[in-house]
Amino acid sequence: MLDSASRAGAPAGHGTGAGPESITTGQIMGSHLSTTVAEGLAFMQIVDGRKVDSLSGERIDVACPSDGKVFASIPASGSADVDTAVKAAHTAFSEGPWSRMPAFERGRLLTRLFNLIGEHGDELAALESRDTGKPVRQGKADVAATMRYYEFYGGAADKMHGDTIPFLNGYTALTLREPHGVVAGIIPWNYPLQILARVAGAALAMGNTLVVKPAEDASLSTIRIAELALEAGFPAGVFNVITGYGAEAGAALSAHPLVDYVTFTGSPLTGTRIQQAAAVNNRGVTMELGGKSPQIVFADADLDAALPVLVNAIIQNGGQTCSAGSRVLIEKPVYEAVATALEERFSKLVAGPHDADLDLGPMINRKQMERVTGYVAAAEEAGIPVLARGSVHADAPAGGYYAPPVLFGSVDPQAAIAQEEVFGPVLSLFAFDGEEEAIRLANSTEYGLVAGVWTRDGARQHRVAKRVRAGQVFVNGYGAGGGIELPFGGFKKSGHGREKGFEALFDMSATKTIVFNHG
Ligand code: NAP
Ligand code: MG
Repeated sequence: MLDSASRAGAPAGHGTGAGPESITTGQIMGSHLSTTVAEGLAFMQIVDGRKVDSLSGERIDVACPSDGKVFASIPASGSADVDTAVKAAHTAFSEGPWSRMPAFERGRLLTRLFNLIGEHGDELAALESRDTGKPVRQGKADVAATMRYYEFYGGAADKMHGDTIPFLNGYTALTLREPHGVVAGIIPWNYPLQILARVAGAALAMGNTLVVKPAEDASLSTIRIAELALEAGFPAGVFNVITGYGAEAGAALSAHPLVDYVTFTGSPLTGTRIQQAAAVNNRGVTMELGGKSPQIVFADADLDAALPVLVNAIIQNGGQTCSAGSRVLIEKPVYEAVATALEERFSKLVAGPHDADLDLGPMINRKQMERVTGYVAAAEEAGIPVLARGSVHADAPAGGYYAPPVLFGSVDPQAAIAQEEVFGPVLSLFAFDGEEEAIRLANSTEYGLVAGVWTRDGARQHRVAKRVRAGQVFVNGYGAGGGIELPFGGFKKSGHGREKGFEALFDMSATKTIVFNHG
């Protein structure tokens, strides 16, 4: 396998899920990956089927996190650009050929996009890696997962149907699943290709039109996918992309009165702002807001199987993963053994530029690097013991945003690194005594996204999986949101609504009930 899984021996990349049966990028793209991305490219956004600059002509420089050097630029759009894009999407929804297209034809368009992404797999993986700093094998894993989304939703488009409902004599009642209309997708910078795919796949399968605002730090692959969607034959106005700053383009999009539904992945604070904006128009939202996900290791666990997965779950994508396994709870009899084994592994981890393909790449930007090193410094100051620290490769460019992985032991469950989402390669270990304490600790943060349970006791597997408050629970494994087919989303502060799998199609549509009185 060519994804991050192969290095740490864990399940494949974010969203790719469950291991050996996952498609490998090698199968899709051949063994060669060109990591060359042309310099100085001026990317355009996609509005109403055309590549356009921002109305003001203002642009944002795009830097590579591996060296901090500018290599491209994107339009800096504001509310006027957003207005044009939303109106195009609204017209495409209410008047265009899209709304008259049978579901199976929407599915065929998604399948055509799947094929085009395969043809451009090398290019997209290289672009994603350069834009976000993620190791190239993670870029490849992301392309493979992205393809699965379009493949899955291409196949699902004509399989979502309503019900007939037994009602009063003389009546027939039935339901239809109808698209919301214009869906706004606000996408973060950590897995742009994949998160766009889970939004666009489900939204377009159900017949919505789309306006996407990627993060200004990672917009390039979103633009390329929208270009490929045009090539695939999606009608003008169906798949629009507006680039710009969150506080400008993002805020204008979430507040636009012609947007019918908003889906967002990112921080809880921005999620609150977006919900407030959407609430003014009384529109529905899906919120995927991150986590502080625990892995619970009982004394009877298969530790050889668990260890590489525990490491990978926090260093994959530099820990910048909403479903990162950032807390490991260890039953007391095996605490020392697990801590020592993790220490050994952590001290060997090396961060470096994306094209060196080391254990992890840089953080996305300076702010994120400082956030991570700030959390580490504060924890050290508070006296939390550092068990091990990885390194930054000696040849890593000085301008890059590197944060070495850090392992903390015996962490106070109330400490900031135990409660808050660091979004970096920082792992906290906790000791527990028995099942009750494990569950209490697992549920002791405001988040509830993913959890891992490691035990050979079958009855305990069921008990613990049911009592942990998390949208996904993996028993004797950990999938970092894994599996395109698997519903994904949070409890508590991790958000609401579900993406991925067939279930996402419910979020991306609304039920219409029709009642016939035939006497
Ligand atoms: P963020 O503010 O939540 O950004 C996510 C997306 O929202 C980006 O596209 C951003 O655009 C946009 N945005 C920002 N302000 C907005 C507004 N007022 N209205 C509408 N859209 C807006 O995340 P961040 O500041 O980049 O990262 C901060 C922290 O968020 C991280 O350290 C991490 O803890 C968390 N995070 C979580 C996830 C996740 O997958 N759950 C992903 C990313 C970040 P711009 O980037 O262009 O401003
Ligand atoms: Mg970038």
